Formats: sequence, C-alpha cells, structure tokens
Amino acid sequence: MCVFTHITAGAIIGVYSPNPAAAAALGLGSHVVLDVLPHHDIDNVAVEISLAVAVVVALALGGAITATVIVGMIFAILPDLENLLWKLGKIPENKKFFPGHRGIISHGRVLDSSNLIIQFVFAIFTVSYLLWRR
Ligand SMILES: [Zn+2]
Repeated sequence: MCVFTHITAGAIIGVYSPNPAAAAALGLGSHVVLDVLPHHDIDNVAVEISLAVAVVVALALGGAITATVIVGMIFAILPDLENLLWKLGKIPENKKFFPGHRGIISHGRVLDSSNLIIQFVFAIFTVSYLLWRR
C-alpha cells in the first residue's frame, strides 16, 4: 500500500489507541493488513514521501497530532523503511526483513493506478475526520 495510506491508517489508529504501546502494535499490524489487500503502489520515492509529509503537515496544522498519533504513524510506516532503502539501492531485495515484504505473508495483488483513487479517498476522508473531531 502507498506510504500516505499507511501513515493515514496509523494516525486514526493512534487517535483510538489507549496508550503508545497499543498504537505501536496496532500501527504495525495495520501495515500487514493493508499490504495484504490488493493495491497499487507508487514507484516514485519523492512522490511517496511528499504525499506522506502532506498528511503529517495537514494533521499538524490542524492540531490533530498527539503522542499516540505520532507513534501510530511511525509504526504504520516503519516496515516501508526497508522498501525505501531497497528502492534507493542501499539493500538488496533478499535482505528485506518484514514478513509482508519477504513473501512470508503474501503481498496483495497488484492493481492498476485507478486504485489510487480509493487510497486518496480514504486518506482525504480520514484526515478530514481527524481534523473535524479534534
Ligand atoms: Zn509495506
């Protein structure tokens, strides 16, 4: 799943987590669930990072950032750090660690770019909700 989708999921998980440990565990778990679903990934690292930063900036400017939201977001995207390092040529594919990236947990079927509409709608709806409810 795209990084902006993972980070948005981590934010809403963080809002409803009772403590940072729960936000971390659920954020990490959300990464597995979202990667198992059929989806389209953006290959351009700069676009991926820009969209994720846009989510964080929107939440920060709207005052929707809390400790558990930060922890949820970090752990929701943490596994994709190895994907970033792989895309940048810093590690080979066989050095990936996360089960969803190694093939131990099967990755969702690759969809065409029209799937991005669903991911954008999810992110916009979720960020709007988080800004509205604060
Ligand atoms: Zn991933």
